[in-house]
Amino acid sequence: RVVVGTKVDEHHQNYVRAYNMLTGIRFVVSRIHARPEREITEADFRASHKYSFDITGAELTPSTKYDFKFKDYAPWVFRRIRTAFNIDPAEYLVSLTAKYILSELGSPGKSGSFFYFSRDYKYIIKTIHHAEHKFLRKILVEYYDHIRDNPNTLLSQFYGLHRVKLPYGAKVHFVIMNNLFPPHRDIHRTFDLKGSTVGRDFREEDLEKNPRATLKDLNWLRRNLHLEFGPTKKEAFVAQMQKDVALLQRLKIMDYSLLVGIHDLERGNEENLRDKTLQVFQPGGPKVEGPQMGNLARTPSKLETAARARHLRETVKKERPIPMAQTIDKMPDESHRKSFYFYADEGGFRATHDDDGAGEEIYYLGIIDCLTRYNFVKKAEHFWKGMGGHEPQISPIPPERYGERFIRFISGVTMSREQAEKVRFSHALQ
Ligand code: ATP
Ligand code: CA
Ligand code: CA
Repeated sequence: RVVVGTKVDEHHQNYVRAYNMLTGIRFVVSRIHARPEREITEADFRASHKYSFDITGAELTPSTKYDFKFKDYAPWVFRRIRTAFNIDPAEYLVSLTAKYILSELGSPGKSGSFFYFSRDYKYIIKTIHHAEHKFLRKILVEYYDHIRDNPNTLLSQFYGLHRVKLPYGAKVHFVIMNNLFPPHRDIHRTFDLKGSTVGRDFREEDLEKNPRATLKDLNWLRRNLHLEFGPTKKEAFVAQMQKDVALLQRLKIMDYSLLVGIHDLERGNEENLRDKTLQVFQPGGPKVEGPQMGNLARTPSKLETAARARHLRETVKKERPIPMAQTIDKMPDESHRKSFYFYADEGGFRATHDDDGAGEEIYYLGIIDCLTRYNFVKKAEHFWKGMGGHEPQISPIPPERYGERFIRFISGVTMSREQAEKVRFSHALQ
């Protein structure tokens, strides 16, 4: 059973919000790209622009289906960031606005954020809390400098920061970022790793119900897994991770994780599905349970799709029309990522052996959820958990140590298959 998110169509409860998000994005992105390139200034980092959209249209804004307000933050800076990550503006607009189709994952994490995929699964829109939005604006200069100096950064790539407000509605902030997982390949296993063990276990019994769930640190250790990199890739990966984490430590960020999607080349894409159809379904099917977004960012196999369609037909019966497949004319490719070291192998990073020869897996990797500042809430949590606990194991520890523990854990599991076998052998001897 595969959950592919819920198509946000007219009947969806968040349709108006999603529609307005996309309408606003289309407007502000077109607007900024209509202007000739220029150097950015300090003021560009603080800039924000408010727009009112209404059904009659205004001097600046076109008429829209609904009345809403939209705020665009630091448009010149995000334009630069998109260029730095090789995002073609026309393609960006097509992905995010074509026929207004998104699929919603609801809220896979505990934070209450909503996640939406662009129609082609290339981009993720994540609604963020007011504090996260304020924080991103505050650190934007440092983030920008970092990605300029580190084109191969593993950090989440933020392509835009906006706010939408419906009449009488709350203000909702959101970011647009890269989907780490490729639209064209099955991800066979997903892990969200923090280097902590407390609460970092997905119940193995639940895997049967939910075979593509996002697993955590203890599941990783239990399987004795490694990021299989020969010396060259290991060195490059660890060095970049250290630079990225140094930034996060300096900015007092914590609670981030390394998201790891594993594509097993021997298994390939089940059914070898390479056709050009992405199936997006209407509500009524099984609900999303827990974090499992990574596994959604893939084309479901024909078998899975057929099974799901059958399931839907049975449950939905006559109340709702049978879901229609949405055909995408051009399968999104990952060519814009080719020049980025960790995303160069079909959008990911291929495993290697001791001799740096190619391995059997492609990893899709990135450091995600990096807008949580170690604030007094976390400090309070630290205090209470710390009262009874063994500190290195609990999650909310100060950013310095959080980062050290993260690097230690991730570097520790990064070794070639041959090396891992040697380690296993020497442990067996002891
Ligand atoms: P919490 O704070 O409770 O951890 P959150 O709402 O901040 O939750 P994230 O940790 O950002 O959510 O993400 C939740 C899950 O969504 C991740 O474990 C991962 O499966 C998926 N996800 C998040 N960002 C990406 C991304 N850029 N690409 C692919 N999948 C992602
Ligand atoms: Ca998280
Ligand atoms: Ca979070």
